[in-house]
Amino acid sequence: MARNLLGFDARALTDFFCEIGEKPFRSRQLLRWIHQSGTPDFEQMTDLSRGLRAKLAECAVVEIPQHVSGSEASDGTRKWLLSVGGGNAIETVFMPEVNRGTLCVSSQVGCALECAFCATGRQGFNRNLTTAEIIGQLWWAVRTLSLESDSARLGQHNVDRPVSNVVMMGMGEPLTNFDNVVSAMRIMLDDNAYGLSRRKVTLSTAGIVPAIDRLREECPVALAVSLHAPNDALRDQIVPINKKYPLRQLLAACQRYVDPLLGDDIPDVKWERKGAPRDFVTFEYIMLDGVNDSVKQARELVALTRDVPGKFNLIPFNSFSDSGFLRSSATRVRAFQDVLINAGLVATVRRTRGDDIDGACGQLAGRVRDRRSRRPDRITQSGQSLIEDRA
Ligand code: SAH
Repeated sequence: MARNLLGFDARALTDFFCEIGEKPFRSRQLLRWIHQSGTPDFEQMTDLSRGLRAKLAECAVVEIPQHVSGSEASDGTRKWLLSVGGGNAIETVFMPEVNRGTLCVSSQVGCALECAFCATGRQGFNRNLTTAEIIGQLWWAVRTLSLESDSARLGQHNVDRPVSNVVMMGMGEPLTNFDNVVSAMRIMLDDNAYGLSRRKVTLSTAGIVPAIDRLREECPVALAVSLHAPNDALRDQIVPINKKYPLRQLLAACQRYVDPLLGDDIPDVKWERKGAPRDFVTFEYIMLDGVNDSVKQARELVALTRDVPGKFNLIPFNSFSDSGFLRSSATRVRAFQDVLINAGLVATVRRTRGDDIDGACGQLAGRVRDRRSRRPDRITQSGQSLIEDRA
């Protein structure tokens, strides 16, 4: 079967070229053609010999993602639905700002973690995305935005580099699809491909502790952790993976992640600073009315995270049908934020983007077929209706 080179990072491409009897430096050329020129067609790769182009056409392809539909919110946020076969589709969201453009990338079809407040979690899990399907989202976004860049639609957005930041915050838990996510991030960071800095690629996790340690060793990027509760009793309920990796273990892993001294032993990676590219973890904290948003809980959160260098990002809850939760009022969010700030912490409130196209955090639903893991009592109501809305 022809191999899809879209998902091959530098290492995999080098191995591939050695295997077919070609020089390893071909991998650089291929990365540039595929990701910088956006060329999926070997015939157009004019600095490769005719013989090599023919050889590639025989044993490989560059299969680009299939676009199903797109929508644009009133604030300029774009959402694309990309087909990944078998009736499944994933969502990718682009958020333009004056000085940067952030792409929110999915890592799985659905999600198995079942966080109580998340639309993707309600849908259940179908499968991991391949490296090609993950990097394909960035390929698609860069290509589409570049083609549009001469038109007026991006407004003031800096179009030289339409996507300047990537957040692994779309559908799925990236650290339970570790190898494919890391390969895709290596392509994002590669100067022959997208050349993003490690600080501008952020991986968000609900807290898969051993994988946080592995990430630090294999591909340290900026880390965001979905905390959402100040104690295990509440976190067990709303982020069930907490039963497996409770807060004490999770916070210790966060501390290891940002500790520069621990970075000295990491071989084979070039980056500005040893260890993590940032010296703090971003703690995401969704504000759920009457559940986790009291002043008392804010104080508990300050005490809990005292030893970990972190910045807080308070996320207004984005609702979806049958979610069973309400967004905290602005007054409650402000009171909560004040407790953190008065304790000397950095705490910002995330601006909600794209909620009129269901493109905001926790609203991504895509299309998930044959869900292997789900809560039967909830999915038939909420998951089903979310899917039909988009069909
Ligand atoms: N599985 C990863 C990444 C995907 S979710 C994680 O849990 O971090 C990205 C962020 O959106 C997480 O912080 C997640 O908790 C948050 N989120 C999920 N559902 C949400 C909702 N309905 N409203 C606002 N944020 C939500």
